[in-house]
Amino acid sequence: MSHTLFHHLCVALRTLVLKLILIALWLLVFLVGFFFWHEFQSPFNFALGLPLMLLGATMGIASFWEIFVSLFSWRWSREHCPFCSQPEEIKDILSTQDGFK
Ligand SMILES: [Zn+2]
Repeated sequence: MSHTLFHHLCVALRTLVLKLILIALWLLVFLVGFFFWHEFQSPFNFALGLPLMLLGATMGIASFWEIFVSLFSWRWSREHCPFCSQPEEIKDILSTQDGFK
């Protein structure tokens, strides 16, 4: 089955919804880190807050980037396509089994 524009739009929409939820969660992690860093002046809270802020910011940007990739990369959306991926996997399994014979 070939990857069509309909598939591409489905993958882009699904990625958009999932990643927006993830971005909201990572933003929450970032805000918790910021809260620890900002509200308490002890170095222990700084050591806890800064990694949380870095983690939240990095993963949030990564999720944001994946939304862009899903919209503009045909290859990425084909690799993550739920309609196309199943037959490809079965084909891969069959070809590797032939290789072992
Ligand atoms: Zn597809």
